[in-house]
Formats: sequence, structure tokens, C-alpha cells
Amino acid sequence: MYDYLIVGSGLYGAVFAQEAKKKGKKVLVVDKRSNIAGNIYTEKVEGINFHKYGAHIFHTNNEKVWRYVNQFATFNRFTNSPVANYKGELYSLPFNMYTFNKMWGVITPEEAIIKIEEQRAEIKGEPRNLEEQAISLVGRDIYEKLIKGYTEKQWGRDCKDLPSFIIKRLPVRLTFDNNYFNALYQGIPIGGYTKMVENMLEGIEVRLDTNYLKNKEELNKLANKVIYTGPIDAYFNYSLGTLEYRSVRFENEVLDMPNYQGNAAINYTDRETPWTRIIEHKWFEFGKDEEGNDLPKTIISKEYSSEWKQGDEPYYPVNDENNDSLYQKYKKLASKEDKVFFGGRLGEYKYYDMDAVIDSALKFIEIEL
Ligand code: FAD
Ligand code: UDP
Repeated sequence: MYDYLIVGSGLYGAVFAQEAKKKGKKVLVVDKRSNIAGNIYTEKVEGINFHKYGAHIFHTNNEKVWRYVNQFATFNRFTNSPVANYKGELYSLPFNMYTFNKMWGVITPEEAIIKIEEQRAEIKGEPRNLEEQAISLVGRDIYEKLIKGYTEKQWGRDCKDLPSFIIKRLPVRLTFDNNYFNALYQGIPIGGYTKMVENMLEGIEVRLDTNYLKNKEELNKLANKVIYTGPIDAYFNYSLGTLEYRSVRFENEVLDMPNYQGNAAINYTDRETPWTRIIEHKWFEFGKDEEGNDLPKTIISKEYSSEWKQGDEPYYPVNDENNDSLYQKYKKLASKEDKVFFGGRLGEYKYYDMDAVIDSALKFIEIEL
């Protein structure tokens, strides 16, 4: 008999499994995929760590989480500096003095402030949606060229129908600083995320290609408690309705050239280009293999955002009012399950970054273990 059955070998499941094992508990991890690591899975292609389920950059201000992950991997010094391509015009991201200079020709922070103030004046009172929030942060020109098209492609909804908090994730700076994240710590695990999760799961029994929901009764018999990190609505067989997710489709290409776009991420911020961005994976590791050799080929991924339907991978929870209130109902049902606990991005239906998922797992562990 296992103490814990952990459903999902993503970050949440791996952190829980690691800590439970350390406390002497007997654990079994199952995952329906044929690989561990959930969405942070990476595999080697042409010597490059390829981020199969979307590009992942670790960034955090949480000292405890940073120390935690450093037990399992050494991080390189990668700093995310995506570039926006609007109909062939290139802009620096996040919004900073380089962006304002290219957009308006302004040279000083003072000139940039004047321009932004002028343009944000059209928004009176508290911003009520993403469009108003964006204009009030950076003005209409940047909204139209760098935000509107990208956001509507990513979320499949009009910016007026999206919550304003989504855009608050992006920094606005009056300095020449292209670092996308306001984070004290940032990097990519050397050797790939899969290696990092493998280290977390060392010595732990993992069964892949095992769908918990299809074998629930048998699997439940194996353990005293279950930690479930899949979608909460799927667990309850969608009995109260379906939570909405955004899914992403990747078109991957190996190219026989050393450098396709000169950067890890280029965002296509116009409405017409069908993909949201192109990732060139080798630049997460500076185009080198582990011995420091230049790599002759490259792999790129075009990202297409799509509405999720049953059978697709759910990637982003859509945390608007309707979905959040449906989630609250599922959460109530979940609290009545005495031996099953729900965690992670899908189990808690939260737009968590990796550091927040680890933090959430560590907090749960403090109570549970
Ligand atoms: P997951 O990684 O989704 O793991 C859940 C696991 O459960 C999966 O392996 C799944 O197969 C398994 N599972 C589900 N249902 C079942 C079932 N019925 N039976 C068995 N197994 C099941 N965060 C960052 O910090 N930085 C980034 O740059 C970043 N980029 C991202 C880009 C994209 C495209 C996406 C989608 C997310 C990104 N994130 C990023 C967020 C990050 O992926 C998550 O925070 C993290 O991976 C969540 O871990 P998790 O364990 O909760 O979920
Ligand atoms: N965003 C945008 N233009 C960009 C990049 C981002 O308008 O070039 C907006 C978009 O609405 C997105 C939000 O900012 O959903 C947050 O971006 P982030 O890169 O944090 O999203 P992620 O893909 O990491 O969830």
C-alpha cells in the first residue's frame, strides 16, 4: 500500500513526490503522458533542448523557491528579452525606453512620460477591461501595435472582454532595460527541465501512459491518499459544466541553418499573422551544446493559440468571472473528497507560473506532511 498516489508528474506532482519520499512516505506517481515533467518537458533535438509543450523560462522573486529548485539543477544566466514584430517593424519588449524611442522618437524618460500621459488621458476612471488597462498603462499607439493583435490571437477574445490583470503581468519601464521579467532570479536549468524533474523523482516509482481517470477505482485501492494535478472539472466528469482553457498548437521545424531569427522569442503582434510567436529554442542556451560547441542546425516552433475542446491539452486557464465562479463550485465538491487533494495549474485552475506552482506545493506540503 502506498501512502500517496500522485496523479501527474509535472512540477507540482514532482515536488510533492520528492518531499513525501524524504519524509519516509511510500509514493507512486502516474501520468497519462508517455513522459514525465508535464508542460515543462524538454527533449534533445539536434543537440538542442527542445521545449515540447511551450517555451519555459524560470523566473522568481521567491528566495525559498529559488533555493529549492537549485537543489535539482544549475541554472544558466538566460534573460528573457523577446522582440515584437509588427508588420516588419521590430520593437523591444517589455515596454521600455527602447520601445518608446522606436515608437515615438522620444529620447528621454521625461519625453516618454509626456507621450504616455497624453495618450492615457482618454481613459477616465478605473480601467474596466484589458483594453482600458493597456491604454492607461502605455497609451493607444502601443496598445494598437504591440498588444491588441497579440492578445486577441492569444485569448481568442476581444480585449474589451478580457480581465485587466492579464496585462498587468508585463512591466512598463522608463529605463533602457529589455529584461522581460521583474525577477531577482532567472534562468534555464542546464541540461533541460526534464533532467531537473528526473532529479526530483529519483528513486520514486513512476508509471507513464496511465490515465488515472480511466483507472480510478483500481488506482485508488493502491494508496491511502491521492494528490491530483489534472483538470479539476475532468475529475468530476464535467458534472457542473466545462471550465474554459486556451490551448496551444506548435508547428515545429528543424532548419539546416545556424541562426533563424537571432533571438529565443519573437512575438508577432499584428492580427493577420496566424501565429502568436516563434520560439528558436537554441538561444535559451546561447546556441551552444553542453561542451560549448556551436550547433549547426536550429529548431523553431510557431505557436498558434486555440480554444480548448475535450481531447486537447489544456494549457491556460481562462480566469474570467464565469470560469472563476464555476471553479469555486468545483472547489466545494473537491473539499468533500476526503482522500483526494487537488493541486497545480489545472487542479487549482490558476494561471500559475512555475515558481508559484512550487510555492503552492511547498505550502500544501507544510500542512499535509
Ligand atoms: P502540468 O505541468 O500541466 O502537469 C500536470 C500533469 O498531470 C501532466 O503531466 C498531465 O499529463 C498529468 N495528468 C493530467 N490529467 C491526468 C490524468 N487523468 N491521469 C494521469 N495524469 C494526468 N511558467 C513559467 O514560470 N515560465 C514560463 O516561461 C512559462 N511558460 C509557459 C508557456 C506555456 C505555453 C504554458 C502552457 C505554460 C507556461 N508556464 C510558464 C507555466 C508552467 O507550465 C506551469 O506553471 C507548470 O508547468 C505547472 O505545473 P503543474 O504540475 O501544475 O501542471
Ligand atoms: N502581451 C501583449 N503583447 C506581447 C506580449 C504579451 O499584448 O507582445 C500581453 C498578452 O495579453 C499576454 C499578456 O501580455 O496574455 C501576458 O504576457 P506573458 O508573456 O506574460 O504571457 P504568457 O504567455 O507567459 O502567459
